[in-house]
Amino acid sequence: MELRRDPITQSWVIQQTAEASWATSGVCPLCPGNEFLCPPNLYVYPYGGPSWQVRVIPHRNPIYQIEGDPARRAEGIYDKMRNIGAHEVVIENPDHRLPLAQFSDDQATQALRAYATRITDLKKDLRFRCVTLFQNVGPEAGQDLEHPHSEITATPFIPRRLAYELRAGQGHYRNKERCLFCDIVKQELDQQVRAVAWNDLFVAFCPFASRVPYETWIMPIYHHASFEEDVTSAGKQQQLGRLLKSTLRRLSTVATAYHLVLHTSPNVKARPSRPDAWQTLAEDYHWHFEILPIILGKTRSYSFKEVYFNAPPPPEVAAKDLRDAEPPLP
Ligand SMILES: [Zn+2]
Ligand SMILES: [Zn+2]
Ligand SMILES: [Zn+2]
Repeated sequence: MELRRDPITQSWVIQQTAEASWATSGVCPLCPGNEFLCPPNLYVYPYGGPSWQVRVIPHRNPIYQIEGDPARRAEGIYDKMRNIGAHEVVIENPDHRLPLAQFSDDQATQALRAYATRITDLKKDLRFRCVTLFQNVGPEAGQDLEHPHSEITATPFIPRRLAYELRAGQGHYRNKERCLFCDIVKQELDQQVRAVAWNDLFVAFCPFASRVPYETWIMPIYHHASFEEDVTSAGKQQQLGRLLKSTLRRLSTVATAYHLVLHTSPNVKARPSRPDAWQTLAEDYHWHFEILPIILGKTRSYSFKEVYFNAPPPPEVAAKDLRDAEPPLP
């Protein structure tokens, strides 16, 4: 596998030569008792006990390889590099049938703690410019292992969507000396049209220009650029966990599958990069989760790739549906 840069859009594209799935032959490698089928733990909670609640392992067939140097090079006018990076699997719970939406407060807290710990650790590697956490839940989302889990990838480049956000945040800050995302949060809380739910610290809302029906973002109401530096106390982890769980339960009333992605500030210590590139990053970027539900029969939202085409309902109606959807108790 290698990474190639699209010379037009400037975004890096993974060129996959073999299927990077984790073939399982009927046995779940993520269930307790089958640890021998997995690479050794990178993180385990509780540490040193007879059984685990959360563990993180390298992906057995990773998209990215941890060893070596990106070896960025040219081929004529084109740019390519090796698929250096990290690809980890977070097993948030030993229970094969328990989705995140149904976790207890303590289980959700421990999952968020594992995310923050692993992202912090990966950012110590100066080869990696960006660390992302995502979930593909449900067969329509391409979930490969049935056991509920998240994946973390660290890459030597900044993915296109995040690059757009960073540029937009920086531009807004340059013009107004305010965080674009804080402005969005304030307007959504003031208007309460697209807001779905909130607590003292976090808000869930359907974004103004939703790309798919029932797209929902979760953001801190206060300003912070970096998830892993911010969500470190049990109090914040619990509040975020509660809103994340209830949002997923609301979404489960309209969709059975979803993509979830965490956008957090890139690795400012990674080299090489322009020295002034991240000058205002701590002020102009704002971490958040994006949840993109998959609603069967509305796949036109996804197939029309050139311009996002959001099928009905519009975000104003979607938010109302989700507000009205009593999240079933865990
Ligand atoms: Zn399992
Ligand atoms: Zn902000
Ligand atoms: Zn984002």
